Amino acid sequence: MEYRKWYDRDIKTSLLGFGAMRLKTKDGEIDEEKGLALFDHAYQNGINYFDTAMPYTDGKNETFVGKALKRYPRESFYLASKLSFGMVNSKEEVLGFLERQLAGLQTNYLDMYLLHAMNKERLQNVKEWDVIEILKKWKTEGKIRNIGFSFHDDYDTFKEVLAMNDWDFVQIQLNYMDTDIQQGIRGYRDLEQRKIPVVVMEPVKGGKLATFSPEIAKPFSDYSSASMASWALRWVGSLPGVKVILSGMNEMEQMVDNITTFRDFRPLSVEEYQKIYQVKSALQKAIAVDCTNCRYCLPCTVGIDIPGNFKVFNGFAMYNNEGDAKRQFSNLIRNSTLLSECIECGKCALECPQHIRIPEELKRMLEKMPFLK
Ligand code: SF4
Ligand code: SF4
Repeated sequence: MEYRKWYDRDIKTSLLGFGAMRLKTKDGEIDEEKGLALFDHAYQNGINYFDTAMPYTDGKNETFVGKALKRYPRESFYLASKLSFGMVNSKEEVLGFLERQLAGLQTNYLDMYLLHAMNKERLQNVKEWDVIEILKKWKTEGKIRNIGFSFHDDYDTFKEVLAMNDWDFVQIQLNYMDTDIQQGIRGYRDLEQRKIPVVVMEPVKGGKLATFSPEIAKPFSDYSSASMASWALRWVGSLPGVKVILSGMNEMEQMVDNITTFRDFRPLSVEEYQKIYQVKSALQKAIAVDCTNCRYCLPCTVGIDIPGNFKVFNGFAMYNNEGDAKRQFSNLIRNSTLLSECIECGKCALECPQHIRIPEELKRMLEKMPFLK
């Protein structure tokens, strides 16, 4: 297993971390046999970083993780959990949150503690409730050892959160397709420059970079028999500032493949970077509609979320993942009109700086994605 030292700190984490928040359930409960087997396999193969959070698997994730990890010596692994803002409504609730977590996780301390999924809105909560001061107090008391945040918003917000505290580590979303979204690779470079250890989530883009069309993945398959996921993981692991790559593993096969990637970890060669570049370009070319999300076409006469629909269309064209597309689509139509309701008035197309023939493209989307009807 590849390990990474956290600069001058006495911390050495396995580069592959176990994201335990997506464990499979059976009859409404976490499938214990399957879950414990995954923990054992991870631990026995050198994974020493385990990541959880209270809201996952119906609020039962931490309790299960606590039970699984209780079987190993406490000082032999790093345990990470988060202050989840969806579960607290006031400063008082924040003050009582950690004790509940420690009880569920059956431990006296957490190695890594994160402000969960920071964004503009949560930044206000952090300021109003003096959350940073609360975290510092918990750290002084030895209840948490390292303070960080995970992040989902734009680069400017990232800089603002980064400037709020002297962070021990930061968790960001990064993969070879998402170098320009959220904080992007720019945010990674800022952290590397400041020697702030980086934990990466979504290295395989929620599984999308493990399953796209074999035709697009040809530069990979012509080069070696390594899995598509391993290319994505190695791209992230080749960044020296990355100290942990979280993979939300819930199948043994996936864990075995990931462990193989990190057992004899090799950073990408120049030739391998070229392969990734070719695949990335092919994925980008597969985009169905050249929509920039400028939103000039809105409001639509009947209330269709035009750029939202094109985002779903493009995602499907690139990754060919029907399940994902259906999920995104059902979220989208909660607050907007179905695209099949388009009356072809053409008002939107007149506003589009990309000259997209919007009503025609919406029709094409329905033809290509009949499962949305
Ligand atoms: S053409 Fe369709 S999508 Fe465009 S504004 Fe009219 S109804 Fe909305
Ligand atoms: S105006 Fe055109 S490019 Fe802008 S969001 Fe609408 S469809 Fe996309």
